[in-house]
Amino acid sequence: MSSGAQDLVAMVKAKNPAEPEFHQAVQEVVESVWPVIEKNPAYRKARILERLVEPERVILFRVPWTNDRGEICVNRGFRIQMNSAIGPYKGGLRLHPSVNLGILKFLAFEQVFKNSLTTLPMGGAKGGSDFDPKGKSDDEVMRFCQSFMSELYRHINQFTDVPAGDIGVGGREIGYLFGQYKKLTNRFEGVLTGKGRNWGGSLIRPEATGYGAVYFAGEMLGTKGQTLQGKTCLVSGSGNVSQYTVEKLIHLGAKAVTLSDSNGCIHDPAGIDTKKLAWVMDLKNVRRGRIEEYAKQFRGSEYTPIERGATSNPVWDIKADCAFPSATQNEINGKDAQNLLRNGVGLVAEGANMPTTPEGVDLFLQKKILYGPGKAANAGGVATSGLEMSQNSLRMSWSREEVDGHLGRIMKSIHKSCVEASAAYGMAGNYVAGANIAGFVKVADAMLDQGIW
Ligand code: NDP
Repeated sequence: MSSGAQDLVAMVKAKNPAEPEFHQAVQEVVESVWPVIEKNPAYRKARILERLVEPERVILFRVPWTNDRGEICVNRGFRIQMNSAIGPYKGGLRLHPSVNLGILKFLAFEQVFKNSLTTLPMGGAKGGSDFDPKGKSDDEVMRFCQSFMSELYRHINQFTDVPAGDIGVGGREIGYLFGQYKKLTNRFEGVLTGKGRNWGGSLIRPEATGYGAVYFAGEMLGTKGQTLQGKTCLVSGSGNVSQYTVEKLIHLGAKAVTLSDSNGCIHDPAGIDTKKLAWVMDLKNVRRGRIEEYAKQFRGSEYTPIERGATSNPVWDIKADCAFPSATQNEINGKDAQNLLRNGVGLVAEGANMPTTPEGVDLFLQKKILYGPGKAANAGGVATSGLEMSQNSLRMSWSREEVDGHLGRIMKSIHKSCVEASAAYGMAGNYVAGANIAGFVKVADAMLDQGIW
């Protein structure tokens, strides 16, 4: 890294202590875009990077709620409004006990570049809470969501900031949040995406992140004259992104053989077919059970728990052609990356945000495998949220085919932007550099146009 880039990263670390995920995300982007900064003195003069690493606004609030035993619980709520240069803030809400300021800042920072890549007019944000929905009743989740929205509603609306789902926030939570927003404001508007079909939601939104990651993988394979047909694929996680990744892999003739959660992973060498996937969807989305149950249900499959303090994840130590990390950040470390490469994996398409540690990323880039970073590969979710916003504004609803067609074209265009941007800076085939540069230039130019703010 050049000394200017090093100084900037050091400044971010000093100013934002104890936020390692934010440091990691900033370092990767700064490294990638530094050649662009050096070529364009206007960006440097306008201090674009220094402004990009500082959120426009951080909202932190108390979320008190009452559990089913009548006890009062207190969680912390956040919304990071990172950058609005190219559109209203847009990004998901995460409910998970690991949520803290640094994790949400990394996610909001990544979101700025991802949203820029989609070609749609959306700024970047992220929010959530350290509330753990696991083991909570529907009523408890509702009371939490209502309390969370009782503060958040002051800071969002269809033109300012449009949150969506992320880990722990699916259709149920979006429904409770929307109901409370409507009650408090007396406005029925497209203030959240991922809404139910009968009240402003878009077809294909639930599927979009997983489908998009698979479309992106197909585009990467296309550069080598290959397709997904017949490929064996590892998928981690078992939530929204994982489920629809598996569904699209099945559609395209590939074989998904794994799923996981934070306790362990299942391996089904025969492949997860449509029937088994429907069972998983019921397990996770309705019964809210653990993936371990899969191995009891389907013969020939095997469950491996993740030991506490383990230095590698068993889901990445299985022979396969492709990997789709779709659970959480830093789920592939250096050792996991080595295991994947040793087992013959030649493509990694990230459904999750920043699932690979810097050591893992370096290995993938050194070995020149097809490596699609989350910013590009999982942008289909937010892109389709953008399409939901368009439909809400038009007061129309498009068909499945129409939305899926848009999604396919957007993923193609993101792939093309990555390929062109990396080639323009002498890093052909490096999708990390390509995604960061292409995402950055659009936001930086908008910031130049809009003066100092
Ligand atoms: P869900 O809540 O539906 O599912 C999350 C899955 O990941 C669960 O299987 C969960 O297991 C597992 N998981 C979560 N945290 C951890 C952890 N610390 N260690 C191991 N496993 C974990 O979330 P989504 O599918 O929506 O999100 C998955 C990833 O995709 C996230 O990185 C998210 O930011 C990203 N993403 C999601 C988008 C969307 O549209 N939903 C859009 C773009 C990116 P368990 O039940 O044990 O917690």
